[in-house]
Amino acid sequence: MRTRKLKLSYTIQLETLNAGTGSVWVECLRLKDTWDYAHGYRTGGGVDCSCELWMDKQLSKSQPLHSQSIQEVRSRYFKNRKGFRKLRKNGDKKAKPPYRDKTFQTTTWKKSAIRFIGNRKLRLSNGQGNEPLYVKLPKNFDVQYAIAHIAIVELVYDKGQYSLHFVYGVEKALKSDGEGIVGVDIGEIHPMVSHNGVDTVIFNGRYIRSLYRLRNKVIASYGKKIDRCKRHSKRWWYLVKRKWRYIKKIDNQIGDGLHKHTTEFVKLCESGSIGTIVIGDLTGIRDNIDYGKRANQKLHQWAFGKVTQLISYKAKALGIKVEVIDESYTSQTCPSCGKRHKPNNREYTCKCGFTYHRDGVGAINIRQKYLGHLGVPVAAAMAPPVGIRLEVPRCSA
Ligand SMILES: [Zn+2]
Repeated sequence: MRTRKLKLSYTIQLETLNAGTGSVWVECLRLKDTWDYAHGYRTGGGVDCSCELWMDKQLSKSQPLHSQSIQEVRSRYFKNRKGFRKLRKNGDKKAKPPYRDKTFQTTTWKKSAIRFIGNRKLRLSNGQGNEPLYVKLPKNFDVQYAIAHIAIVELVYDKGQYSLHFVYGVEKALKSDGEGIVGVDIGEIHPMVSHNGVDTVIFNGRYIRSLYRLRNKVIASYGKKIDRCKRHSKRWWYLVKRKWRYIKKIDNQIGDGLHKHTTEFVKLCESGSIGTIVIGDLTGIRDNIDYGKRANQKLHQWAFGKVTQLISYKAKALGIKVEVIDESYTSQTCPSCGKRHKPNNREYTCKCGFTYHRDGVGAINIRQKYLGHLGVPVAAAMAPPVGIRLEVPRCSA
């Protein structure tokens, strides 16, 4: 997908359109409440599907919008719900379903509502009886390209500025399976370690770990201060707010770091003509972790979900397939002799004499498992792993 943006000067029509879309959004929220009430507050994947069909018929057509623009809001709402359930499944307890009323929302036009008139004018239909939106196009606007590739047009409001986003569908075709396969181990020490059959790359987790530590420190030190205050007192509220503001900032920095790492990784895959990325799924197999580590574990599960999600969408844009497989035994199997035993420190050492970076072994085996070769000795001698560090400033404590 590629997007081209075009700034628009403010008119009441633009505001009316996005306000109308906002109203449809609120309508979706209310209709979902009605549905849940009628069905005894059941929420689940299967139910959502029939709710979606039902909602489609219920939505009023009173807003000055194209019927497909209205439908898009409904599907956006359900997409949000789906995203929320996925986050929850990946251990993010704080994730919430969409619930907030919105006064304004981005309006979307699908292909059938978009028409180019001549070379300089665009007509966006808002349904029968409603005034369409006419937009003058700049001289350098390639109408022919737009006609061939346009997927949707969005009316976006950001910081006082309205703009039209032309979203072009130029997703590359999926690369064939014959091309390279890379295994990814997502770990607690390093967010990602990858292996493509020859090279092992470690995406160093030092920076992100330091943020985890800082996060725990902030929780502990504020927790102590908060415990000393009277609950719901002025100072108590002040500290609670301060604490969460701080934690949010750290979480953003962690998210940023993961963004940088995954971008780097996907770029590396593209230049190495990788067709498939295989990620080992660790959810559910680390249940025997001791209690003191619970809080950290949750955070790591969140990070796992985040890394998977980031890699998935970035890879998809480049036409690279992403597969998630069960990673059991991938950390224990020796790539050289195929025997299984638990590694007990950062370096994997086997009785057969094989020794390698522990997460590197994970990545090698995830790749092997995907190929159906787990336990089959790898013939080639392993190159020592290469490390990639984030070039980010240390955050101030
Ligand atoms: Zn061995």
